Amino acid sequence: MTAAALTVIDLVKDYGVDRRAHRAVDGVSVEIGEGEFLSLLGPSGCGKTTTLRCVAGLERPDEGRIELAGTEVYGRGGAVPTERRDIGMVFQSYAIWPHMTVFENAAFPLRVDGRRRSRSEVQNLVEEALAVVRLADLAGRSATQLSGGQQQRLALARALIRRPKLLLLDEPLSNLDAKLRGQMRAEIRDLQRKLGVSTLFVTHDQAEALSLSTRVAVMDQGRIVQRGTPREIYERPATRFVADFVGTANLVDAEVDGDGTLRTPAGSIRATCDGLKKGDRVTACFRPENVLINASKGLKGTVERVDFLGETLDCRVRLDGCAQRVTVRCHPADGVREGDAVFVEPIAERCAVLL
Ligand code: ADP
Ligand code: MG
Repeated sequence: MTAAALTVIDLVKDYGVDRRAHRAVDGVSVEIGEGEFLSLLGPSGCGKTTTLRCVAGLERPDEGRIELAGTEVYGRGGAVPTERRDIGMVFQSYAIWPHMTVFENAAFPLRVDGRRRSRSEVQNLVEEALAVVRLADLAGRSATQLSGGQQQRLALARALIRRPKLLLLDEPLSNLDAKLRGQMRAEIRDLQRKLGVSTLFVTHDQAEALSLSTRVAVMDQGRIVQRGTPREIYERPATRFVADFVGTANLVDAEVDGDGTLRTPAGSIRATCDGLKKGDRVTACFRPENVLINASKGLKGTVERVDFLGETLDCRVRLDGCAQRVTVRCHPADGVREGDAVFVEPIAERCAVLL
C-alpha cells in the first residue's frame, strides 16, 4: 500500500494572546490519499490557515506529527524546513513578484531550492508550467500587467513547477469577483484532476468546498467536527453547526412520535428516525430545496416573505404555534404570495434528525 500524501496526527498549535495561550488548532488529524482533494471548511478564525502553515513548515506546532508521503516532516525527530518539504503553495494574496516577468515568477521556486539546473531545463519546466495554466503566450510580460485571474493562474503555475507531492491552497479564490471565482474554481478542479496532485484546500466558502473536493473536513474552533464526501456533509450533517454552516438549514424543534414521525406544534412530519424512541426531543433538519410548499399536510404556517431571486423563489414561512421560521426554495412559477396560509412538507427521506 502506498503511503498517504499527507498524514496529520493530533496537531496542536497555541498562540500566546494577552499572556494567555490561545489554542488555534486543537487536535486536528487529517489524511489525504494519493490524488485526493481535501478541503478544510470552516468559519474565519477556526484554525484553517494555521493548520496549513504547520503542514507547510511555516509554523511550528506545539504537539502532533506530520508526514508527507510516509516521511515525517514534523514530530519527535524535529522539523524539516519548508524548502525541503515537497509541497507547492498558493495563498490568498498570490504573492506575485511585481518586479519580475511572468516567466521569472514561475521560475522562482527553481532558483531557490538549492538544486542545480541547466538553463534549458529551467526553460522547459517553466514553459510546461505556464502552458498548463494557459499563460505561455504571456511569459515575457511584467507580472503587474496581468488580470486578477491571470495572476491567480501564475500563482498556480509557480506552486506546481517543482511537481510537488502536495499542493496547499489557502482561500486562493477569495480576492476574485464572483464570476471569475466560478471560472477559476472550475479551472482549479480540472487542473488538479489532470495532474492528479494531492491537494489540501482551505476555505470558508461552502460552494467551493462542495464542488471541488473529494472529501471535506468541517472545522470549528480548532477542531474537525465532521468529515465526509461533499454529499455526506451536505445531506447528513452531524451537528447543528455543520447543518447551519454548510448551506442553509431549516432547524425545527420536534418530538419523536412513534415510527418515522416527528411532532411539532405546527403539525407532524415524516423523517428518518433510526435508533430513536417515542418522546425523544430532537431537531428536524431539512434544506430549503427539499420542502414542498402548498402541501395538504405537514407544518402549518404563514408566508411571511417572498424573495424573487430569478432562478428561484425563496419563501420564509412562519410556523403556527412555535414562531419558528423555515425557508422554502420554490420554483419561480409557483404562485406563492406573502400572507398565504400554507402547509410546508419536508421530503421524508431528506429530513435528518439531529439530537
Ligand atoms: P482561519 O484561517 O480559519 O481563519 P487562523 O488559522 O488564521 O484561522 O487563526 C486561528 C486562530 O488563531 C484565530 O483566533 C487567530 O486570531 C489566531 N491566530 C492566527 N495567527 C496568529 C498569530 N500569529 N498570533 C496570534 N494569534 C494568531
Ligand atoms: Mg485563513
